[in-house]
Amino acid sequence: MTLHTLRELLERAESGGYAVGAFNVSSLDQAIAVLDAAEAERSPVIVQSIAGMSAYDDEARWWARLRRLIDDYPTVPVALHLDHGRSYDDCARAIEAGFSSVMIDASRDPATDEPSTFEANVALTSRVVALAHPRGVSVEGELGTIGGAEAGVSGTTEEIVFADPDQAEQFVAATGVDALAVAVGTSHGSVKFTDAEGGQRLRIPLIAQIKERLPQTFLVLHGSSSVPSEAVATINAHGGRVRPSYGISPEQKGDAISTGIRKINQGTDSHLAWTAALRELLSTRPDLVEPGEQLGVALIAFRDMVARRMREFGSAGAA
Ligand SMILES: [Zn+2]
Repeated sequence: MTLHTLRELLERAESGGYAVGAFNVSSLDQAIAVLDAAEAERSPVIVQSIAGMSAYDDEARWWARLRRLIDDYPTVPVALHLDHGRSYDDCARAIEAGFSSVMIDASRDPATDEPSTFEANVALTSRVVALAHPRGVSVEGELGTIGGAEAGVSGTTEEIVFADPDQAEQFVAATGVDALAVAVGTSHGSVKFTDAEGGQRLRIPLIAQIKERLPQTFLVLHGSSSVPSEAVATINAHGGRVRPSYGISPEQKGDAISTGIRKINQGTDSHLAWTAALRELLSTRPDLVEPGEQLGVALIAFRDMVARRMREFGSAGAA
């Protein structure tokens, strides 16, 4: 069977010593690009969607189509995951749609966007686990706050509330989550760090400490795109205006995998690749109006970026 829980995928990653990439999609075409990459690389993959973020008005139909699409890829182990569920209801809708995994991000209060108390985070996360586990669905929680677009601000390490190993242990014991997003120095969005190229962003010793306390829980790195400077340069050379910044280098992600990170969220890099390819095409071919040709170029760039990350994370060949 193609669809797997997040726990099943990450258990295999743990024994294989690699990480599984989790790629955000907001249209069926992007999901096809991710699944094509997984098939070509023979890689397990996590396809993830954020509630309210898609090209379509009708979420129920979009999620149902996304779930059906996975059945077209019988050779690839896939988890269909809700990224950053902000409420019990977000998670309930995703489970109803057939997702095999949900994230409940109760690290911030959705009403105020302030960091939640530990108790409030535990309470909401536990309710989602009680809904999901009897239905065979995995749950990812978040502890600490990962900076960047999630908080509506551009990221610097000052805005990150780092995860605490003692609290991580208590959180997992109280909630029973399968996977835990830990704030260890990454930042969301396309504008990450502006201080210096190649800076050490990830607190590898902190990952090691948390991992030691939580041998049965899978650690997740959010906001860990690399923000390739050539993609940003291409976008800006063809009419775009993306602020140049630095992400998490592939080498640091490799160190994180060696230390025990098993799921790596990669939204921004493939979005930058798509935008760069499309901007370049439209500006160099001003007469072009055929949608298939436009979409085809963008999808190839998207797919190739996903495939590259699968090879870097060591999941290529593991399907
Ligand atoms: Zn995230």
